[in-house]
Amino acid sequence: MDMIAYPIGDSLYLNITNRCPNRCSFCIRQFGDAIEGYNLWLEKEPTTKEIIEAIGDPSGYREVVFCGYGEPLMRLQVVIDVARYLKRNYPNVPVRINTNGLGNLIYGEDITPQFKGLVDVVSISLNAENAEKYQELCNSDYGEDAYYSVLEFARKCKNYVPRVILTVVDVPGIDVEKCRRIAEELGVDFRVRHYEDEDGEKN
Ligand code: SF4
Repeated sequence: MDMIAYPIGDSLYLNITNRCPNRCSFCIRQFGDAIEGYNLWLEKEPTTKEIIEAIGDPSGYREVVFCGYGEPLMRLQVVIDVARYLKRNYPNVPVRINTNGLGNLIYGEDITPQFKGLVDVVSISLNAENAEKYQELCNSDYGEDAYYSVLEFARKCKNYVPRVILTVVDVPGIDVEKCRRIAEELGVDFRVRHYEDEDGEKN
């Protein structure tokens, strides 16, 4: 059976798609099938109803996180619908999206206004200090444009989401300090993730 909702620590993670326009060299999709023992390959993408059923009552969790092996915003409408359900029924449980930040490229428009009032935290993978390195690492279908779109996405999210975080994975060759400065300049939080971390986040 597909693993749609899985707890790690005191957070509940949602796995809603395995699709992604990037192929990052460090992505767990490239070399594993399990995070913390959970096999997250989906036989079929779950419907909104199936996701809500899999969540059950999330009141005991610190947060609900759209994550997965793949890019949750490939299914923007489903994310919005589930987030709306959560806010309506469990307003005290924060909602986070872990994303590659390519949503505006995927949809060809600014999707960030849709997060207003529904999403509390957006964690965006910056991954590198410039577009060239980003593309080397992430092999995006969008080429180097992807990087600039990630920066723009972070900037736009700030208008609608209380907390925006840029993250990098500390793989060799990445200038973490430069990435930190980029986050500072954008006025968002910054987090370094460790290559070997298995905290439920695929990047
Ligand atoms: S790490 Fe994230 S952005 Fe990169 S390929 Fe995996 S799911 Fe996509």
